Amino acid sequence: MRFDFETHRAHDYLYLVRRWRSLARKAGIRLEPFVTADDFELLSIRSPALEATGGIYFSAGIHGDEAASTEGLYLWAELNAKYLRRLPLLLFPCLNPWGLVRNRRVDAEGRDLNRSFHLDDVPRIKAHKELLRGLKFSFAMCLHEDYDARGVYLYEVRQTPLRAHRAIGDELLAAAGYYVPVDLRPKIEGRRANQGAIKRRIRVKQFPVMPEAAYLALSHSDHTITLETPSEYDLGARVQAQAAAIQRAVEIVLG
Ligand SMILES: [Zn+2]
Repeated sequence: MRFDFETHRAHDYLYLVRRWRSLARKAGIRLEPFVTADDFELLSIRSPALEATGGIYFSAGIHGDEAASTEGLYLWAELNAKYLRRLPLLLFPCLNPWGLVRNRRVDAEGRDLNRSFHLDDVPRIKAHKELLRGLKFSFAMCLHEDYDARGVYLYEVRQTPLRAHRAIGDELLAAAGYYVPVDLRPKIEGRRANQGAIKRRIRVKQFPVMPEAAYLALSHSDHTITLETPSEYDLGARVQAQAAAIQRAVEIVLG
């Protein structure tokens, strides 16, 4: 499928919601508003195959100026409409609609939502956490973009020692790298990177200010990745790169 980025309304939240609604109906999956924030309904999507353990979590658009994340998740879902019912999925198509519409990283109050998961007084974060209560995912991926990235890169984290597990970041980068070059800098955002992959073991005390991925890794997910595409690169290629990484992750995790 060709992604027409010239005419695409990547920052039109209501258009995104309309497409998800129609896809959910076609695919037989449940789309549910879970909270209203900045006058927009936030949606979650749950497949009938999702159980308390072993599920897969994807979220996009927590930063509104990262439109390839919301479009990439949608593109992947659309290409896999036939299978969505049978995959154990919890999806968040866009966590910051106000930001998406304005091409802003933050929400209407100037808050970076991806630095807010330690807070209990932000209703949208509270509602998000309530939705996750009792769920343990085998894999979670938070979809992002970075405006000064030189290519696609990712963070791969676990609470348990990394050597005990198979790392999958390299394979996701290989899939995404077909569309967008991999960021090969030895240091990215101040952290040691190897061919675009930053692998870490995390502990709760490292996070007085909590990103979504850290919250997931510490409470709900056995294996967590934050994917970053370079937001100055061609939108169509970034969307394809996001969708390819999602596809590869699902194949490996459920394989
Ligand atoms: Zn981001």
